[in-house]
Amino acid sequence: MTHEWAPETVVVETGRPTRTNDASLNHPITLTSTFIGTAEATPGTYGYARTGNPTWDPFEEALATLEGAALPGLVFASGLAAITAALDLVAPGGTVVVPRHAYLGALDGAAQSAAAGRFDLVPVDVADTEAVLTALETARAEKAGLDDGTGNSVLLWLESPTNPMLEVADLPVLLARAKEFGVLSVVDNTFATPLLQKPLSFGADVVVHSATKYIAGHSDVVLGAALTSREDLRAKLHGYRTIRGGIAGPFEVWLGLRGLRTMALRVERAQENAGVLARRLSEVPGIEVRYPGLPGDPGHARAAAQMNGFGAIVCLVLPDAVQAEKLTGLVELWTPATSLGGVESLIERRRRHATEPHSVPEGLVRLSVGIEHVDDLWADLEQALRAVL
Ligand SMILES: *Cc1c(COP(=O)(O)O)cnc(C)c1O
Repeated sequence: MTHEWAPETVVVETGRPTRTNDASLNHPITLTSTFIGTAEATPGTYGYARTGNPTWDPFEEALATLEGAALPGLVFASGLAAITAALDLVAPGGTVVVPRHAYLGALDGAAQSAAAGRFDLVPVDVADTEAVLTALETARAEKAGLDDGTGNSVLLWLESPTNPMLEVADLPVLLARAKEFGVLSVVDNTFATPLLQKPLSFGADVVVHSATKYIAGHSDVVLGAALTSREDLRAKLHGYRTIRGGIAGPFEVWLGLRGLRTMALRVERAQENAGVLARRLSEVPGIEVRYPGLPGDPGHARAAAQMNGFGAIVCLVLPDAVQAEKLTGLVELWTPATSLGGVESLIERRRRHATEPHSVPEGLVRLSVGIEHVDDLWADLEQALRAVL
């Protein structure tokens, strides 16, 4: 078929078994540790189940198609496993430029590696394009000699919108400049999903996902993925996954693909709910709302230009930690829990995590808006806010 499928079709149709009589519509879960190899000279595709598993293939193919990657994706045991592998792309002693606000596990892991001397870490405000470019240029000048030919002396790590501040980076400009500078770039696309944002199309070298979130979508599995169109980088990431050994179980990957089938519908409803709630919340006196979909939000123009929607994460800033904690305790439909991207709505005060940067306000509450009826979500939030404010 020459007609290119829309993402809504890709999530449903990609990665199906070949159409033969009596073929099952879904791939089976292949439970094996090893694969029969009859001829030494022509080893099979998998060999051993730490290297590959047929259950991974349709999921990896579907994600690559969605992100526009020229090569199959790589599934990892968790988002952080994919992130750890991608961070290892930087040369020993190189520099990783990271967002000052980002997924906490990524920041904590990078800080630990930096403390152990693996690389230097330079935190930047990713919304400040000039600051990011200056950091990249400085790092490249310092570290050029370390490059192995892949551009790995410096690695630009991006998240947009960022967790939990929802800052929006100018992805087309930053990724194009990273390419001009000859440095690696990685984008954590978990918040946006490939439905709303395609970093590889802006020149990113690698995209990583916590598939735990919108991709699997039901808060029942922990899973990650990395996507790239570069053979050299895919080989390194594949090697890291195989040799470090933290691979995904076949059942989890099967669940990931099963969840992906409805991702377009879920994301559409969740972000529609998020937009309605953000607008209603912005009329409540005494709180600040952050959501790139609001016309007054600092990230609005950029998000409108580079995204296909504004996502389903909304943040509220209450005056202090006590009020924020009170809010998360008074809701009845929203679930107080960390994580995001599931069908159900979650609420969390982010500074309850000790290592969350102190530039994140004490009273910041992150809402992961789910697919429930928006009026029920609003009624619950409103009664809780009324009791708090
Ligand atoms: C949850 C999350 C991760 C980590 O993924 P896990 O699957 O929990 O390991 C990474 N990045 C972002 C943006 C996330 O939300």
